[in-house]
Parts: sequence; C-alpha cells; structure tokens
Amino acid sequence: MVANRPLPRSLDPLPDESLPGYMLRLAHRLSLTPARLAALTGLAAGSRFPSWIPASTLVHLPAAARDAFALATRLTPAEVEGLCLSSMSRRYPLPTAIRDNHRSNSMIRLERWVFAPATRYCPRCLAGDGSAVRRAHGGPGRKTWHLPVVFACTDHQRLLEHLCPACSRPAHGLRSGSPTVLLPQMRAAALHPAQCRAETTPGNGRRLPTCCAARLDAPAAGQEIRATHNILALQQRVLDLLRADGPETTVSAGQPTQPPRYFIDLRVLTLLVCSSWPAARPMAPSAGVAAAIDRHVDRQHQRIAAVREQSPTSRPLRILDAPPPDAAAGAGLIAIADQILSLASPTMSANTYGPCFRPAPGRPAVRSGAVWPTAPELTAPTGSEKPASPSCSPSREPAAAPRAPGSHPPPGTLRRRAHPGLPPQGLV
Ligand SMILES: [Zn+2]
Ligand SMILES: [Zn+2]
Repeated sequence: MVANRPLPRSLDPLPDESLPGYMLRLAHRLSLTPARLAALTGLAAGSRFPSWIPASTLVHLPAAARDAFALATRLTPAEVEGLCLSSMSRRYPLPTAIRDNHRSNSMIRLERWVFAPATRYCPRCLAGDGSAVRRAHGGPGRKTWHLPVVFACTDHQRLLEHLCPACSRPAHGLRSGSPTVLLPQMRAAALHPAQCRAETTPGNGRRLPTCCAARLDAPAAGQEIRATHNILALQQRVLDLLRADGPETTVSAGQPTQPPRYFIDLRVLTLLVCSSWPAARPMAPSAGVAAAIDRHVDRQHQRIAAVREQSPTSRPLRILDAPPPDAAAGAGLIAIADQILSLASPTMSANTYGPCFRPAPGRPAVRSGAVWPTAPELTAPTGSEKPASPSCSPSREPAAAPRAPGSHPPPGTLRRRAHPGLPPQGLV
C-alpha cells in the first residue's frame, strides 16, 4: 500500500532519533503494529512481505518513499531525511546498500560499520526525560547508536548497552540467518518502544510471533557501567564530529583531515589492532576494557577458525573488520586507534606501534601472504560494486597500503602533535 493520506495523529521526531525509533514510538501512539504502520506510511510499498522493510531504510529513503512517509506522518521531507543516517553522510562514511543474492533480490545487506538492525542503547535515554509524551511513548532510539564509534552516553555519563538484561540477546537483533530488515518482529503488537523485541516464539502464517518484552529502559540496580572522564571526552569529540554544525576538520596523524576520513582511519587501525592483538594490549584504557577486547578478538578467531574449516582459503578480513557490539570493547579499540592517530612521527609509529601492524604469533594474517588490506578494500562492499565511502586520510594511506611480510611501516607518514581531547594513557 502506498500512503496517500495523513494518519489521524502523529509525533514530532526527537533530537537524533532514528527511523526505527520513530516508527516504534508512532506505532505505540497509534496502537498499531510496526508492520501496519509501515504499510500505512508507504514504507512497505514494493516489498514482497510488508513486515520486511530493508535495513538500508535506516540509512536512506528514496525520494518517493520519503515524500509518502512525510505525507502520512505530517512531517516535512527534511524532517524525514533527518531520521535517516544519510543526514550524517557529510560526517561519517556510510555504507552502500548491497543486494544479498543469497537470500532474495529484494533484500539488502549493509556493510559492517553500521549496526543494523541491532543497536546499542542507553536505558536512561530510552526512559525519556519525564515529559508527558516521553513518559507515554518513551525516549528516542538514536541514530548515532547504530554507529560503532558511539559507545557512551555523554548525557548520562555511562557506556551504552547492547544486550537485553533479561534474555541476553542483542537489542533489536535478528535470529541467525534472518534477512537484514529495519526492525525485528514488526508484526508483534502491544509492545512499548523500549521493550525487547527478541523472538521467543516464532510466528507463522496465522500465529503472530511473541517477544521477550523485557524493558530495556529499566536496568537492574548496580548494573550501570559508568564511563570515565577520558572515555567521555573521546566520545564527546566523536559526537561533535558527527554533528551537522560540528568542526569541518580534525587532526589525524598530524595532518588536518575531514571527519569521514578520520573515521576511516579509526576503522583501518581498529582492524590492525584486532589482527595483531594482544600487541596493543598495554595501550588499553583499563584492565576491564582490555578484557573486553580479549573476548571480542577471541570470538573473531573462533569465527575465523570455523570459516576456515569449511573453506581453508577463505580470507578473514571481514571478520576482523567487524566492530564489537559490546561498548567496552568498542570504546577500547577506538581509544587505542585514536592514540595511534595522535602520534605524528614515523619513527614513533614504527618503534612504538610497529607490532600493531603485524599479525600476532599463531594468528592468521589478514590476507594470505600477510599483505595488509588497503583502505578502499576495507570500505568496499561485498561484490562488484564500487566503494561509496571515502578512503582513509592521506596521512594514513602509506601505512595502510599493502606491504611485504615483516617489513616496517613506511616512513614519512606520521608527525608528532598532541591530539585534542584524549591523553594517550590513563583511561579507566
Ligand atoms: Zn543516555
Ligand atoms: Zn529480551
């Protein structure tokens, strides 16, 4: 169904609210299932199954779908665009949507440096600020929670969560093997926007699925993970770079660069740190963060081993490139990568962080032959499409370029300059 008339009631979007977050609040206000709301707003137009809205919708809505959604929800087209991650495209290297030919021509899979549909979340933000509308329908599901570079809530000074406290499954996560869609269990009715949508009983043609339904906005007392001043300072600097009116440039390896390129640099270095872990373990902000990265890297290598059992020649790049959903591990990796980018001396790079650019003993190289990936390779989507994301900043390109096994990073890439915001050590 294509939307051709306004809904009887609507809601104003909240700051930084995502499209799925807005859908959940509006569906709750109208006492509709998200699937029914998708049909009434035109989001399901062209979809073979009305409850399967492609996850690419999180990033971008085509103009016709945007206008239909705006008409139905009484928003302006600009307000609808503001619900999508594409509103941050000048700031963050967003992935292109990719057809997943293994499942259905109509389904689309995203690259890994956007969490979709799973999301990190802050329980206190989901609980709202006490205003009547937020008490009734909850606070915003934020766009920025879908970005791996966002790991803390600076308003509530805590690390984000990613699991349901009751069922321990990822918030808005999907069953393994499910198509990647905008929201899980869109046919499930009577859920508050802050309730867990993990499936407990699968639906079928006649029976609706049932969900865990635990509240994500009411964490158990004492389980809140407070973030330290330095982690919050790093997070605030990242959030400032993501803001539409944020700084136009930042510094990466001693060179001024644009925010999307800085985020590509973080991604490249995060991959290298993971592939060489535990070489960079002494740089972790705290023992707890180091342990979280230990667990993340162990899981990566379990997956690599499983994949290689099936296909011995397979390349582990995409597994090593996958960011951790766990906010502690994510914060630690971004902090370590940012520390490396804060250096501006090629000598320091080679001497101090050289081990981070080599695979750990007994661990597989990123590619057979121990040749490191290029930045475009990291940002290229699976398949034959060309990468839409910018490459890493010029100052990082030599370090990220392929090189022979055992060779040192090429000189002339890094210069010493104090990086704004985060001291190299002392994070807790
Ligand atoms: Zn919060
Ligand atoms: Zn749950």
